[in-house]
Amino acid sequence: MIGPHFSNPPVWPVSTKRVSSSENFVMEEGGQIKKTLYYSLCIICQTESEEDLVKNPISHKTVLNFIEERVKYGDWQYSEAWKSLSGISSDQLAASKASWHRKCYQDVAHTEKLKRIKER
Ligand SMILES: [Zn+2]
Repeated sequence: MIGPHFSNPPVWPVSTKRVSSSENFVMEEGGQIKKTLYYSLCIICQTESEEDLVKNPISHKTVLNFIEERVKYGDWQYSEAWKSLSGISSDQLAASKASWHRKCYQDVAHTEKLKRIKER
C-alpha cells in the first residue's frame, strides 16, 4: 500500500486557483522571468490601441522613475511594465524613440495616486 490511508478520500476544491492572464513571459533558465519590450508599442502598457503615441517623447527617465516607484510601493498594475523596462536605461529608450500613450503617462505620473499608495 502506498501513502497514508484515508478513511475518507480528501476532497479537492474545484478549481479555486485561476491562472493569471499574463502568460506572455519567457521563463529562462534559473527561473528568471524576462519580458520583451516592444519599442514600437507604448512602453507603459505595451498594448496596441487606437490612441496615438506621444510624438516627441522626452521624459523617458521620468517614466522609468515613476514606474519603478509604483512597483516599489506595491502597485502591481505596473509590475509587468517594470519587468520589461528594468535594465533598460532612459538613454536607450530615447535612442530607440520609445514612446507611450499620453493617457498612460498621465496615469503613471499621477502623483496624488502615488501619494495614496505610499501612505498605505
Ligand atoms: Zn499605453
